[in-house]
Amino acid sequence: MQTLERSSLNRKLTSMCLQAAASALLVVYVAFALATVTGERREERQELEALAAVLAQGGLDAVQFNDRRLATQLLAALEARRGLASAVLYDRKGQPFAAWHATGQDAADKVEALGGLDPDTVAAAADAGSRPWLPVLRVYRVLGAPLDADGRALPPVGAVMIESDLVPLWLDIARALGVMAVALAAALLTAFVLVRRLRRSISDPIGKLINAAQKVSASQNYTLRIAHNRNDELGVLIDSFNNMLAQIEGRGAALTHHRDELERQVGVRTEQLEKAKNAAEAASRAKSAFLATMSHEIRTPMNGVLGMTEMLLGTELTETQRNYTRLVKQSGEHLLVIINDILDFSKIEAGKLTVEYINFNLWDLLDDIHTVYTPQAEAKNIPLHFDIANDIPVAICGDPNRLRQIMANLLGNAVKFTDQGRILAKVRIASEDNQAVMLRFEVHDTGIGISRDARSRIFEAFSQADDSTTRKYGGTGLGLAISKQLVELMGGSIGVENALTQGSVFWFTVAFDKRRVDPDAPGDHQHTIDGLRVLLVDESETSRIGLERHLATWRVECDAAESADEALERLDEAARAGRPYDAAILDMELSHTSGLLLAAQIKSEAATRATRLVLLSPERLAADPVQRREAGVAYQLIKPARAADLFACLATPPRGQVAPAPRFMPPRPLHLDANRPRTRRVLLAEDNPVNIEVARAMLESLDLQVDCARNGEDALQAVRTNSYDAVLMDCQMPVMDGFAATAAIRREEREAGRGRVLPIIAITANALQGDREACLAAGMDDYLSKPFSQQEIAAVIGRWMALPLAATVHHDDEPPRLPPASVEVIQRDVINRVALDKIRALSRDRGDALVQKVIAAYVDDTPQQLRTLRSAIDGLDTGNVRRIAHTLKSASANVGAEALAALCKELEHLGRADTTEGADAILTDMEQEFQAVRHSLTAILEKET
Ligand code: ADP
Repeated sequence: MQTLERSSLNRKLTSMCLQAAASALLVVYVAFALATVTGERREERQELEALAAVLAQGGLDAVQFNDRRLATQLLAALEARRGLASAVLYDRKGQPFAAWHATGQDAADKVEALGGLDPDTVAAAADAGSRPWLPVLRVYRVLGAPLDADGRALPPVGAVMIESDLVPLWLDIARALGVMAVALAAALLTAFVLVRRLRRSISDPIGKLINAAQKVSASQNYTLRIAHNRNDELGVLIDSFNNMLAQIEGRGAALTHHRDELERQVGVRTEQLEKAKNAAEAASRAKSAFLATMSHEIRTPMNGVLGMTEMLLGTELTETQRNYTRLVKQSGEHLLVIINDILDFSKIEAGKLTVEYINFNLWDLLDDIHTVYTPQAEAKNIPLHFDIANDIPVAICGDPNRLRQIMANLLGNAVKFTDQGRILAKVRIASEDNQAVMLRFEVHDTGIGISRDARSRIFEAFSQADDSTTRKYGGTGLGLAISKQLVELMGGSIGVENALTQGSVFWFTVAFDKRRVDPDAPGDHQHTIDGLRVLLVDESETSRIGLERHLATWRVECDAAESADEALERLDEAARAGRPYDAAILDMELSHTSGLLLAAQIKSEAATRATRLVLLSPERLAADPVQRREAGVAYQLIKPARAADLFACLATPPRGQVAPAPRFMPPRPLHLDANRPRTRRVLLAEDNPVNIEVARAMLESLDLQVDCARNGEDALQAVRTNSYDAVLMDCQMPVMDGFAATAAIRREEREAGRGRVLPIIAITANALQGDREACLAAGMDDYLSKPFSQQEIAAVIGRWMALPLAATVHHDDEPPRLPPASVEVIQRDVINRVALDKIRALSRDRGDALVQKVIAAYVDDTPQQLRTLRSAIDGLDTGNVRRIAHTLKSASANVGAEALAALCKELEHLGRADTTEGADAILTDMEQEFQAVRHSLTAILEKET
């Protein structure tokens, strides 16, 4: 049954039909057999009955008259009938009277007697001879006597028995059944053939349906239909299937239509969004432009105010006038802080707040901040302490100006909101790995404190702890919001907690990269610690050699002592000889004593007390800050000390001996150098009359002759007719702006085949990120942001032309209060003077002349080299590119033009890699760099002659 269920539809149909037909035929066959058997037997009995009746008629006389011969003749006549086995005539007593048997007389003689002639005995004998399993059939008949005179029945006279042999009858029946079986088998075969034919009319359409369903599901093609011309149930099934496909197709078409409609709508919306986005971008650009303009508009007059007060303070004033002027300057600076805050806030709003990534000296910066805020705190009679962990790196990369801004805000607030107690700034390492260090800065105050619910608010823009703050302390509520943004931009976080007893603790963390100092590039450093005398106290020769190598590359004069005693001796000797050591680097682990003890000894001697002490210890906790302070150790570094940190320790004045707060130093009258060949002439292109006066005064105090142009066109005209050493170009001017004027000047230079000769320095009040890039891209060489101080303008101009020595004198008197970052960014040394010093050292007597000669040769030859390089690049001649770049690289390195040498190296690499891809851009950079190099070299030459 199970196999049938699993078999195919065709087999199922065949087997079902055959099973039905076979069952029907079987029933017919059985019925036929039964009917034949019973019919034949009944017929045989009737015939025997009839024969017995005939025999009884004839036998009656023979028995009555005891005529045996007649009886025997009568029985022998039965031989003619086929199939009779025997016949017997019985007399009145039931004894055989005559008998006949088909097989012979013997058998006839053995006939048994009948028990009697009463009906029961005869019936019993007949019954016994007619049992169905017997191969014979017996029939008895009583021979009746005639009725008596009264019509009463007389007792029987005798009886007759006829026996028939049934075997031939059975054989006939078997034959008939055999024929019947053959006929039925033929009928079954015919049915099978017919079923095979007819089943196709059912299985074929079902097969078609299956195929169609599979095709549709595979191809998703709902247009398919099955053709047919039947009107039975299968026809209905196929029609339903076709209908279903039609419905799906219809639904698919509707969906496609909806999708198309949706796409169209999305397209329309996207277009609208695009328009909205463009509008928003335009608005944002407009906002940025507005910011730039506003910044310019506000900072320009501030430049006038601050510049003029600075100039005014440099003139002869009465004490009262000086006080007033100082107040004006302070207010102006305060106003500038607020303006900068608002600008920063606008930048946050416009998503344009960015941070820089530059190298700086963290300790310098912290000292600087300490220096600036100490007077403010002192003015309120509050001590301000800096507690800086000794293990913080000194030389790091990040944005010093923004760090200063955040610290300034927190310290400013601390000073503002504290009336008594103390302020403490702490710096600790929060986490550190090989590349980066996360610093945690804290500012503790004992001021008014902040309520718990105000704490979450104060970092939002324009929010203050409570309304009375503004009335009592002033402020905009922007500082902390800006600080928060800055700290987050620098990968840190900011928060506030309550101090234990009184006041609050503001903290923030900032991640910085650690700076790697390349000992082979001492150019950055030598001007600051060059010539320092240092004593090295270390018992290990390996450590001494390593340290000596560093110190030598920084041009530090270094002696070594192998023990504490030797160190004390040497220090004493040097002090006695009037050449005390500036610093001593002490190893913590010395035999019989310790670096700390040695330090205390050195500091206890008046002669050696001035020597700055740097302690090198194997671990951070070797000496705690109190011990170090008591022993007079300025810095402790962990061994092996980072070169950058060691350098910074030697270069930074020890904490606690902070320089006085910056005071304005009026520009000194300049002394013209008698040997100077001519007065330097600069063009100042600026439209604002106050700014013109400020800048003119500053430039003239640098001993420069100043011409003024009120707009870009005037400037262009002036450059055409006069020869200038430099142009200071304001970016935003009427008629023609600074960018257009610069572009025109550069174009004319190119047309005249002169190359880029005139240094143009942009002056702009736009304090937005990207201004510097925009100016340099417009063809300007440098960048000066308004408001600028005299030192700043001197520093920038000094990079592009020789300034009289007197003009730089202020640097010695008064350290410029430039943030270290600006110093690094703006004062990029085009020339590493060490290289020139090396050339000079080649000849004892004629060193200077040699330097001049080398520089002249370099300046004369390089333009030709650059031109050849250009044609080699144009002609894809990589071999020549490599060769010339290589030659120029060494020539540039010889004169200390390191940046140019690095560019040459890049180009040389390209040449070696057999490609000129990107070479154009490098060459353009090289040409620009060469202009700067040429100016610097010329300036150096002129300074020296
Ligand atoms: P401003 O100081 O210009 O109001 P800030 O954003 O710097 O703006 O500070 C927001 C507010 O946070 C201040 O107005 C003040 O209420 C609160 N605040 C900041 N620093 C301190 C502090 N050290 N002690 C108490 N309150 C402070």
